[in-house]
Amino acid sequence: MTEGPRVRFAPSPTGYVHVGSAWTALFNWLFARGQGGTFVLRIEDTDEQRNREEWVEGICSGLTWLGLDWDEGPYRQSERRSLYDEALATLLAAGAVYWCDCTREAVEARSGPRPGYDGWCRDRGLEPGPGRALRLRVPRPGVTSFDDVIRGRITVANEALDDFVVAKSSGAPLFLLANVVDDMAMGITHVIRAEDHLTNTSKAVLLWTALGGGPLPVFAHLPLLVNERRQKLSKRRDDVALEWYRDQGYLPGALLNYLALLGWGPEDGREVLSLEELVGEFRLSAVGHSPAYFDVVKLTHLNGVYIRALPVGEFVDACRPWLASGPWPPEAFDQGAFDRMAPLVQERVSTLGEVPAWVDFLFLAQPVIDKASWDKAVVNNPHAGQVLDASLDRYGVCLWEAQELHRVTLELGERLGLKLARTQAPIRVAVTGRSVGPPLFESLEVLGRDRTAARLTAALIRLRAELS
Ligand code: GLU
Repeated sequence: MTEGPRVRFAPSPTGYVHVGSAWTALFNWLFARGQGGTFVLRIEDTDEQRNREEWVEGICSGLTWLGLDWDEGPYRQSERRSLYDEALATLLAAGAVYWCDCTREAVEARSGPRPGYDGWCRDRGLEPGPGRALRLRVPRPGVTSFDDVIRGRITVANEALDDFVVAKSSGAPLFLLANVVDDMAMGITHVIRAEDHLTNTSKAVLLWTALGGGPLPVFAHLPLLVNERRQKLSKRRDDVALEWYRDQGYLPGALLNYLALLGWGPEDGREVLSLEELVGEFRLSAVGHSPAYFDVVKLTHLNGVYIRALPVGEFVDACRPWLASGPWPPEAFDQGAFDRMAPLVQERVSTLGEVPAWVDFLFLAQPVIDKASWDKAVVNNPHAGQVLDASLDRYGVCLWEAQELHRVTLELGERLGLKLARTQAPIRVAVTGRSVGPPLFESLEVLGRDRTAARLTAALIRLRAELS
């Protein structure tokens, strides 16, 4: 073990990695790396219903994709049962826990103004048996306090805490017990986690004390992540799966950079920081406690900044997975053509997932014509027919090179009394299918004279048919 702090990322497998979890992992990781500490990965999989190996793999691959490496683990709570058994034995021997046979219905039926467990079995001296759970004997009266780096000192009257269940009748530990036993066993010095756990922490502290755990770890409960309506991020309303961001073509560096700026930021307000800079500058004590707005628009903008900063070769490589599943037949893909367009596309996209739509016209036999663009730029444009006709004519004989295509198009537009943008619009829709895309003349140059001519002809035929 190194001398520095020991932190852990302790996700419960849920089938996907929540961006809030990735954020928690990042803050733990930044803290560990900045302080020369140890970052432990612990899978909290005591819930047998939610215990699938591929979900653990999903967590590991999500962290790996982000570049957050761990020093120890993944430990799995499902493989550490003997530790929890020992802890329960210690608690039983000390009289710190007791067996309880109350059903949920009985607890509810008895509960007074404050819902919760009333300590019914506290002094009944029950033996273990089916349907009996182990509850912690919360010391009463008393108070429980702990320090939170982000929220200051927190003190709770023990009267507000039920004698909570630590293990089922089978001896299977509940979340809090396994969580605390592991934090003790792993020598965790700083518990940095989501604010949802704040209400659990007083209970964790009671357990820690009951188990004779020595000095408490330092706690840091991160702020809540909210959406644009200030609602807690939820999987029903918001895109919360890390995998979704990966599949949309967000770059891990951009996502980490963005996440680091939630609830924290460097003093000088810089918004683009490398991972090294983040490690050097991150301060846990500077994390705020007000809810942090997870702004996908801002993230997407930052992702565009990261995409544009890539050397073009890296951009081309990064695009490969999206190009491999583009909407064209695989054999129609032409890497050389893509490479020529790549610098122009790189300047204009915010995610890699947008890339295929910018180049599909090159690899599809026919462009997919967007109806709204077609109607606006062609059908409802009184000059469209003349522009398409004239361009078909002029493109048939001019030098096939972007600058020359530009010049020729400018000239044919002028003859019709049109500005360049108005001249380009019907040509762009006819050839690429959309009104927005990479620069037109470079696109035509790469597409080639014959295919351009075929598309202009097809557009003219369609236009005449629609107008007749
Ligand atoms: N397993 C808990 C969760 O996924 C985290 C517990 C902790 O960080 O202490 O929410």
